[in-house]
Amino acid sequence: MKSAVDLQVKQKYITKYQKGYPLVNKDTIQNAELLQEEGAIFNLVDPKRNFIAKGYYGIQNKGIGWILSHNKGEKIDFPFFKSKMEHAMKKRVSFFEESQTNAFRIFNGEGDGIGGITIDFFDGYYLINWYSEGIYSFKEQIIRALEDLGDYKGIYEKKRFDTKGKYIDDDDFVKGERGQFPIIVKENGMNYAVYLNDGAMVGIFLDQRDVRKVIRDKYALDKNVLNTFSYTGAFSVAAALGGAAKTTSVDLAKRSKSKTIEQFSANGIDFEQQDIVVMDVFDYFRYANRKNLTFDLVILDPPSFARSKKRTFSTAKDYPGLIKDAISVTEENGVIVASTNSATFGMKKFKGFVEQAFREMNEKYRIVDEYSLPHDFRTTNEYPEGNYLKVLFIKKGN
Ligand code: SAH
Repeated sequence: MKSAVDLQVKQKYITKYQKGYPLVNKDTIQNAELLQEEGAIFNLVDPKRNFIAKGYYGIQNKGIGWILSHNKGEKIDFPFFKSKMEHAMKKRVSFFEESQTNAFRIFNGEGDGIGGITIDFFDGYYLINWYSEGIYSFKEQIIRALEDLGDYKGIYEKKRFDTKGKYIDDDDFVKGERGQFPIIVKENGMNYAVYLNDGAMVGIFLDQRDVRKVIRDKYALDKNVLNTFSYTGAFSVAAALGGAAKTTSVDLAKRSKSKTIEQFSANGIDFEQQDIVVMDVFDYFRYANRKNLTFDLVILDPPSFARSKKRTFSTAKDYPGLIKDAISVTEENGVIVASTNSATFGMKKFKGFVEQAFREMNEKYRIVDEYSLPHDFRTTNEYPEGNYLKVLFIKKGN
């Protein structure tokens, strides 16, 4: 059992933690130098040494640890982890019972009571993301809790604990049965090829599930679709299955071509009828303008930050320009799907980017649909930053 150190919260941050803010920032603590080994349990106390909350020390790109309990007597031990997992699993019963989807998140960090860890389920395989050495120090208990809660095929993990949250390249297999990759998972009846042991990204981002579904069911029929920052083409697959006339997927990573072909093929779609372009998105917009190419549905889903040979893209700075490029290739009455996973700004500011872009292009628009994280990506009101996903469906014209 690790013994807890008392961390003194600076006066002006006391109510914040009392109200349940789960992330501990270094500059809110008087004596953070007491923290030595990641995984150590600490108590947050006020200047009179009254208990506020307890948590663990773990260094991430954000914060130095997460609150685990507001109950002074609660032990951070195997039963603690098991009850959190059990509760999280119960919240996903409808996902486990649903026959058309077998890939979803079963544990979403602070939204399920333990920041710094996420667990995804891919047709019987678990994938654990550890975001610090601190949370990783509880690995044995967390995996035992997971195993106690039901049968599974195998467990994989991603260690993302250098300070930038980057993935540490390793054999990601933990235990159970090794998967034969790709495994083909189902999402609302669509198939996606997934690799759990081939780098940080597995082939699909589960947080966009609802967006893929609505693209297939409502926005794709007979449309000419441009999917930018397309990665493995997951949105293109959804559009093609929804009856799109054609999809064009653009990504600068060379691997995106074979990965996109694979996703189309997993769904019985003839990839030769689709365009898959390996190119910088910003060059592609210039090319499309030169050739007078236009689209009915344009999907924008850039990473928060990307550096290519020619330029760096930072969402907070460059998104209005990206929307302007999209407007220039979108038909009148066409739809732009603008998505961002940047936690540094909220929906209001994102809508401001849309407003700015259309104003500068002298075009009218209407927001026709809005999405945030799906229900399996649970969040808490105390930590609104955790609700990072923002997706707007914007109709160009009156
Ligand atoms: N929309 C995808 C996920 C995008 S991940 C999905 O739904 O699955 C971000 C992708 O953007 C990566 O594949 C990366 O290669 C690509 N990328 C980053 N900068 C780019 C640029 N300037 N032009 C084209 N692709 C870019």
